[in-house]
Amino acid sequence: MDDTIKKKIIQIRKKHCDMFRFFADFEDDVYIAEDNVIMPEHLVHDNCDILKELTTDGCVDENDIDKLINMYSRIIQGTKEDINMNEISVNVNMTLRDGNSKEVSILCYLDRNDDGLIVAYVGTLRILRKSECEIMEIVRAFSNDKNPSIFINRIAAFQNANPDRKYAYIQFDICNFKYINEKYGSESGDCILQYIAETLNIMCDDNHLHCRLTADIFQIVTYYNTKEEIEDFINMIDKKLCMWKNIPFTMAYGVNVVDGINDNYRKSGDAAGLARVKSKKSVIARITFYEEPLMENVKTAGAIEEAEYEALKNGEFHVFLQPKYSYDKKHAEIVGAEALVRWIDKGGRIKPPSEFIPVFEKNGFIFKLDCYMWECVCSIIRSWIDSGKQPVPVSVNVSRSYLKKVDVAAYLKELVGKYQIPIEYFQVEITETCESEETLEYAKRMKEAGFVLMMDDFGSGYSSLNMLKDTPFDVLKMDRFFLDECLENDNGRTIVSYVISMANDLGLEVVAEGVETRDVADFLCERGCDVLQGFYFSKPVPLDVFEKLKEN
Ligand code: C2E
Ligand code: MG
Ligand code: MG
Repeated sequence: MDDTIKKKIIQIRKKHCDMFRFFADFEDDVYIAEDNVIMPEHLVHDNCDILKELTTDGCVDENDIDKLINMYSRIIQGTKEDINMNEISVNVNMTLRDGNSKEVSILCYLDRNDDGLIVAYVGTLRILRKSECEIMEIVRAFSNDKNPSIFINRIAAFQNANPDRKYAYIQFDICNFKYINEKYGSESGDCILQYIAETLNIMCDDNHLHCRLTADIFQIVTYYNTKEEIEDFINMIDKKLCMWKNIPFTMAYGVNVVDGINDNYRKSGDAAGLARVKSKKSVIARITFYEEPLMENVKTAGAIEEAEYEALKNGEFHVFLQPKYSYDKKHAEIVGAEALVRWIDKGGRIKPPSEFIPVFEKNGFIFKLDCYMWECVCSIIRSWIDSGKQPVPVSVNVSRSYLKKVDVAAYLKELVGKYQIPIEYFQVEITETCESEETLEYAKRMKEAGFVLMMDDFGSGYSSLNMLKDTPFDVLKMDRFFLDECLENDNGRTIVSYVISMANDLGLEVVAEGVETRDVADFLCERGCDVLQGFYFSKPVPLDVFEKLKEN
């Protein structure tokens, strides 16, 4: 057992002697449950993952079960979350051994391996104190329409007393709360929350209903006449909510305005929450007003997330190959291909990657999808070798989103070994970014494993030139937007020419992406660009079409 886990168990033992504790080590398949003082007996048998059992055994209130399942799946998927997340908790209503239903808090400390994967956790389960239950009730009011409670009732009464008005849902939280807790200690964090609550008590009158929703998120509901009025009010409270003792902090505000009486309190609050998150991400905006498209994005992302696993199981993801050509103005010959994913749904509609890849990169599913793509590519190359066709190298895309968490080089090396593919036929593309150290480390490992490494989308990012100096890429893929932009004028054409000759001098092969016309193809050929890829030659096509193109 890892030392940090052992320490955590000892700490928890000392701190809470009345709670139920459990431990799971997925790597060694060890599950321990301790001090069986709360948990229903039927749950606690030898070597079971308590958290998993809880998600299925019916003790947890049906209104809360989704929260628990969500927490468990985040732990199991392991790579999905921010690598810095080291604990995760939920509060749920649960039937205990004595048959009583109680509000309990389940908290898990996570243990990650060097690749960032969650390999173990130590969990605690304790009955909430009365004051904590009151807060929970308010949180519930916002998280469950069927369970209207204190705050909801207050909003309803408020609106009924003031019909025909416009209402603003103002949600806010502390931008750097995690940092504050880490730097000044969680006691200071708690004091800041207390300070915010007290300030709101003073500054909000009967026409400004307020509550703490959860953690550091607060909400105010009020009526208003003009947008400026809302901004003035926020600015007024913001003047107070910026410093506690000598600790500075910053709030991010989201506002959703609703016309007239509206009983969808949860949705109205959620929309303010979306706007709040937008403020948090922005470098300039402190206050964001919710606009419909924000919700639309979430709906689309939600629909995509719902369908992803089924789609993978049903074989809706397909490998398309876009040929890469060597070109000398007279002849064009296929010398390779890039594998690009296409999602063809049950209705036969082809979804472009731009629609779903950003969603998958956020929720972690991209790794599953990429593994699937890589395996398909291996099997394609294997089938070419087995059927006596001359194989060409195929490059795959590797997303940056899991680079820190997974040893992709080792994974791919094993995969290529499994299919017994000469390594030069399986090539790897990775986009450049400003995080050059991370890229350098990754690139080194790929090179040590023996892969041909391509810098994708060169010219679209930050430190392209810098990175070329230090990172062992073999191929530079010029971004199509960079190329388009450069080819608009003489200066740009000069830049492209220099990039090609510089890359050649550094011993790098150059591939130009997005070649759409004969003129561009000829220009690139004259400047010494080795390989061209683009709609002028061919779009990405299914395997059978690619094979026909290759034979001609
Ligand atoms: P990318 O890796 O830079 O791929 C090249 C993109 O340029 C492809 O778009 C390709 O269809 C498009 N393209 C190529 N030639 C032309 C042209 O002449 N004109 C125009 N207008 N477009 C051209 P696609 O397939 O939509 O993929 C977009 C991006 O999505 C890819 O950019 C890549 O970053 C990502 N992607 C695609 N498939 C995968 C995958 O399996 N895994 C991962 N992680 N990312 C993928
Ligand atoms: Mg690519
Ligand atoms: Mg590209």
